[in-house]
Amino acid sequence: MHCINNVNSIKSIQPSVHRECRHHHCQNPVRFTKSNRPCRLEQVEVAAAGVGRANLIETPFSLTRAVWDEIIRDSLEKKPNETCGLLSGRNGSAQTVWRMENILKSPVAFAMDPKQIQQVFHKMALRGEHLVGIYHSHPTAPPIPSPEDIAYCHYPEAAYLIVSLASPQPVLGCFRIEGSFARMHPYSVRN
Ligand SMILES: [Zn+2]
Repeated sequence: MHCINNVNSIKSIQPSVHRECRHHHCQNPVRFTKSNRPCRLEQVEVAAAGVGRANLIETPFSLTRAVWDEIIRDSLEKKPNETCGLLSGRNGSAQTVWRMENILKSPVAFAMDPKQIQQVFHKMALRGEHLVGIYHSHPTAPPIPSPEDIAYCHYPEAAYLIVSLASPQPVLGCFRIEGSFARMHPYSVRN
C-alpha cells in the first residue's frame, strides 16, 4: 500500500492517511487561530505571497452545479469511508467527475489505484479535457488538508477539494497545494 511514484507519468495521489490529522483537527483547534503558534495553513499564506506562486494561486477555479452535486453524492454514498476522485475540464473549470476507488477503504485515509488513474487520464484526453481538480472526503474531520494530504499531493496545477461530512450540511474546502504548502483557494459554482 505505498506510493506509485514510478508508474510512468502518474504521480502519487496516495497514501493520504488521516489518523494523525483527524486527531489534530479534533483535539488541537489552535491550528485555526492566529494568536497561537503558526500552523501549516498560516505558513502557507506567507509563503504563497512570494513571487512565482502568484499565477498559480490566482488561477480561478469553478465547477458546475452538476459536478458539485456529484462530489457530495459520492462522499455521502461512501460514508463512513473516505471517497476520492478526479475532476477534468478546461481552463480551471471542472466539468466531469471521475469517481475513483479508494483502495484503502478507510474512514481516515484514501489512496487511488495507479492503473485506474492512468485509464482515467486517457479518457480525459479523449474528451479533450485535462485534470483540473482532485477531491476526497473527510467523513468526520473539517475540510482542511492534513499534513499527509499535503505531503502526497503532487499536482500543484489542480485544485484540491475536500468535502467534510462532519456537520449535517456538507462543506467543501478548496485549496492549492504546492510543495509543502497549501492555501485556501476561492472557487465558484455555476450552472
Ligand atoms: Zn484528507
